[in-house]
Amino acid sequence: MDGEPDLYIGGAWRHASDGGTRDVINPADGSVAGVVDEATPDDARQAVAAARAAFDDGAWRATPVAERAALLDRVAELLQRDKEDLAALETRDTGKTLAESRIDIDDVTSVFRYYAKLVGVDGGDTGRIIDVGNPAVISRVVREPIGVCVLIAPWNYPLLQMSWKIAPALAAGCTMVAKPSEVTPLSTIAFVHLLEEAGVPPSVVNLVQGSGAVLGEALTATAEVDFISFTGGLATGTTISKMAADNVTKVAVELGGKNPHIVFADVRDAGDGDSWAAAVDHVLTGVFLHSGQVCSAGTRLIVEESVADDFVTALAARAETIRIGDGMDPASETGPLVSEQHRAKVEAYVELGISEGAKLITGGARPADPALAKGSFYLPTIFDRCDRSMRIVREETFGPILTVERFTTEAEAIALGNDTEYGLAAGVRTSDAARGERVVRALRHGTVWLNDFGYYTAAAEWGGFGKSGNGRELGPTGLTEYQEIKHIWHNTAPTAAGWFKG
Ligand code: NDP
Repeated sequence: MDGEPDLYIGGAWRHASDGGTRDVINPADGSVAGVVDEATPDDARQAVAAARAAFDDGAWRATPVAERAALLDRVAELLQRDKEDLAALETRDTGKTLAESRIDIDDVTSVFRYYAKLVGVDGGDTGRIIDVGNPAVISRVVREPIGVCVLIAPWNYPLLQMSWKIAPALAAGCTMVAKPSEVTPLSTIAFVHLLEEAGVPPSVVNLVQGSGAVLGEALTATAEVDFISFTGGLATGTTISKMAADNVTKVAVELGGKNPHIVFADVRDAGDGDSWAAAVDHVLTGVFLHSGQVCSAGTRLIVEESVADDFVTALAARAETIRIGDGMDPASETGPLVSEQHRAKVEAYVELGISEGAKLITGGARPADPALAKGSFYLPTIFDRCDRSMRIVREETFGPILTVERFTTEAEAIALGNDTEYGLAAGVRTSDAARGERVVRALRHGTVWLNDFGYYTAAAEWGGFGKSGNGRELGPTGLTEYQEIKHIWHNTAPTAAGWFKG
């Protein structure tokens, strides 16, 4: 960054082969947060070749799991040592508040610790022995590293999303090429320096940053790569899946979401003010945290008709008090959108919502505060009287926009919650535990929160139903994605098969 080489290929830091660079913009004020090298397709091919050679060499995958686990633990320690610097980089790059960036770094740390523990205890899922009825035969199923992995992450949680890939890939014994979003590469560059310091062997982790459209083919349409783990939008995920298909490369895609948050009237009827206040608070946080740039943001409020007016009124009152500002300012509760281009996309969705007949309750504009004029800020926006015919309800806007739909029966709430091509996450608020259990089981989403919203743990799988993707990250499955399964049939007392008699 800023004159230092930023591409890490074959264990060496390099500039781009054509000298290209990119300005990384701080969305809070439009200033240049850093100038980074911009890889060419040839650089990307070299990174893949380095990862291939390192995998085929066999040294890394033969490293005892205890050593790999110790390395992951060292990475976790370094992350905590550099937490403040990494968090500040993430905030300058993405615009999110420093408080949120600090949580991200803690979460990244917990992912490394989790996979260190998972493989460190007994190698993770080491497979199983099968009784084939012949005591001379040892039949066992083992898991082995899948090989060379290409890891592509989005801009909303740059380091966090990348860590969900790098940690299990290292734990499994894979080699890899990481490509962060061109919009937010700073924390990943700093992090790869940490991996080097922690002792990751040369060529095991390679890093290229640059435009996905330019580098995509070199990274994904190649037989040199065994597995592609991608997090990003539906259109890009589809393109990558198609590019990988000719080589039958395994692909796991974590895509977008249009996530329902269902609120039953009983949260108020229960008579305890706490349930009602918590529901309002979680719907608010679920949609407006990080200005809605969260794949699992609860952007669709589906609320029971009898309390809908009061709920929306309470919500709008809170939305109007959200303190928007530069993420580096401790007073800010949410920051800007990630770029001017992205704000333009969000604004187009607000115009669309109005033209579709949704009722604008609050927001729908840039903040008036002149101090925010240089940043890509946008007000928390609520649309009431929405229905499933509206694109604003069906498409991922990835901004601070909440749509409100109403229901009268439990069955209707479930049907609305499932009426989406996505299926990443959903929330349910009810004071009736039996109803809560019925509804969470009926919802077709990868994560469902009951009387809570947004929480996750490194130990539980994350991923989506439907067009929210395939595969899973985190948890034990997040490791097995990076493994191949091999069945070994060992006959310790071989005799002739005896099939052919001649
Ligand atoms: P994009 O799909 O635009 O980009 C994601 C990554 O893919 C970026 O690194 C991008 O690079 C790269 N890319 C773009 N085109 C190609 C290509 N042809 N070949 C290879 N790589 C390519 O998504 P965003 O960055 O805009 O992220 C937002 C999306 O991510 C939302 O849809 C959100 O829901 C989803 N997401 C999903 C999560 C989940 O867990 N399911 C978590 C977080 C986000 P570049 O930026 O350089 O173009």
